[in-house]
Amino acid sequence: MPNYIKVLFLDRDGTINEDTGSYVATREQFRLIERAGEAIALAREAGFRIVVVTNQAGIARGIATVGQVEDIHLYLSELLTLYKTSIDGCYYCPSHPDFPHPDDDRYIQCRKPETGMVDRAVADFLADGFIVDRSSSFFIGDKVLDVECGLRAGLRTVLVRTGHNEEKLCLEQQIIPDFIADDLYQAITGYILS
Ligand SMILES: [Mg+2]
Repeated sequence: MPNYIKVLFLDRDGTINEDTGSYVATREQFRLIERAGEAIALAREAGFRIVVVTNQAGIARGIATVGQVEDIHLYLSELLTLYKTSIDGCYYCPSHPDFPHPDDDRYIQCRKPETGMVDRAVADFLADGFIVDRSSSFFIGDKVLDVECGLRAGLRTVLVRTGHNEEKLCLEQQIIPDFIADDLYQAITGYILS
């Protein structure tokens, strides 16, 4: 019998942690948005797998290292233990079309709104024996490119008003999420789990 799972794909900056206006490269710059930890814990208790999907072109731009990005994700995991919860994976895209680099050009199809990171997570789950049911899975983010990525990947989508809050831009570009929430907590408690 195949094991079907449902997944919450979460953008990072502006969705889980506060968008500081500049690149988040250190633990000091990484602060959870209010109630984000509680929200992730609730989603996990309800049976969702949690996967972070984040563009980290700071690597291509030379303003962050792979080590720094991976340390932030370790730090996120540490913070989530305070809420007795965890995430299943973090996928980041290091590349940027304006900053080509032979080390990360192979990742270019991963940069949101491309769906490469979602597809890779789905493939990794499959390798572990789990089939992602995309129709009961969600993508949550604060930008148009998050909504577009989720739509392209066949997921249900939520835009949050934290971070960049591109609600107006979504309407202008007719890239319409299934739901718009004030923050991650409201997205999860007021829509996904309701
Ligand atoms: Mg964001």
